[in-house]
Amino acid sequence: SNVPTTTLNNGVEMPQLGFGVWQVPADEAATAVTTALESGYRSIDTAAAYENEEGVGRALAASGLPRDELFVTTKLWNSEQGYDSTLRAFDASLAKLGLDAVDLYLIHWPMPEVDEYADTWRAFEKIYAEGRARAIGVSNFQPAHLNRLIELGGTVPAVNQIELHPRLQQSVPRAYHTDHGIATEAWSPLGQGGDLLDDPTLTGIAGKHGKTVAQVVLRWHLQLGNVVIPKSVTPSRVRENFDLFDFELTSEDMAEIAALNTDTRLGPDPDSMNWRG
Ligand code: NAD
Repeated sequence: SNVPTTTLNNGVEMPQLGFGVWQVPADEAATAVTTALESGYRSIDTAAAYENEEGVGRALAASGLPRDELFVTTKLWNSEQGYDSTLRAFDASLAKLGLDAVDLYLIHWPMPEVDEYADTWRAFEKIYAEGRARAIGVSNFQPAHLNRLIELGGTVPAVNQIELHPRLQQSVPRAYHTDHGIATEAWSPLGQGGDLLDDPTLTGIAGKHGKTVAQVVLRWHLQLGNVVIPKSVTPSRVRENFDLFDFELTSEDMAEIAALNTDTRLGPDPDSMNWRG
């Protein structure tokens, strides 16, 4: 495929563009993932909490694509943090996905007040050592949480998947990740498709390139070096979000988008999100 890859800190190649399936209902997930695979996506981002791992797995199997051409990410839900419960939850996710191994397994949230992510990470390291996850990482970890994991002296997370879009550009976490060899993966890369997509600066840049605002925003992520996982269940948009490799934003375009940052979150603040679900 024409999708560039990011080399993770253990040498694994991760496609820089993937397909996210949060809020895709269980009975629609297989259809959505099939559309994505037919459009050229090879990386799929799901989670136990999305309750659609079975549908994702069915689409992967039905695609007939070789396993080594696919990159499958799932995440450990908050209620399962802790050493033994993590191992059990991972087995359940693998069974639902119908896979022997995932490409990337992530701790979904740090839950700093619950304070179980160190034990959880030991279980992740066991899963990794067994070859049942080709890479292990985290999601929604702030630099302070990453510091603590790294100070344990074990495996440095390969990826941190965080909320990141033009209104929440995350310059401090991104710099931290770069310094520590952690890939930055952007969730809600399109700002969940809200009024960001009507922003006049973005509309202007899109018009100049003959592309859509969604394509400009995704291209901005790629040029920053982020991994992106846009979500859509509309086939034309699924294809549109993959059609990013025939244009390039100029440094002026990049600077105009940099000026849109307002540090505004759409999702929970990881420092105060301790909900076990
Ligand atoms: P997103 O930024 O990808 O936006 C998706 C929405 O944008 C769609 O539902 C649709 O309304 C709109 N959209 C998509 N393509 C469009 C297009 N071409 N033109 C116009 N509108 C378009 O939001 P998201 O789903 O929140 O994030 C993407 C993925 O990130 C999720 O599916 C999930 O895999 C992951 N995620 C992870 C976490 C986490 O805590 N780790 C949290 C949220 C999302």
